[in-house]
Amino acid sequence: MSESATPGTRGMTAASAFAGMTGVAPVMFRAGCPDCRERFELAASALRLAIGASSRTTFYSFTCPRCGAAVRKPAGERIVELLTGGGVRTLRLHSTV
Ligand SMILES: [Zn+2]
Repeated sequence: MSESATPGTRGMTAASAFAGMTGVAPVMFRAGCPDCRERFELAASALRLAIGASSRTTFYSFTCPRCGAAVRKPAGERIVELLTGGGVRTLRLHSTV
């Protein structure tokens, strides 16, 4: 991975994007691209979750299937649960707690 650790401050749009999803939902995650504004569903394999030392450095990322943009959004506690529960590959950015 070549991602630099620059925390984004785009707000909590991710929370609303995932609102309404429950643990029994199929393993497809709704997401939106801030670049082309396309909305789509992504399989767990298309997403990456990075868990930092704090919620501010915890985010998920994916590549927009429409325009190819690398999208990164902050992941709150609930989203982390959804993603990990759905089998999304998780990267821990810190080695000790
Ligand atoms: Zn896009």
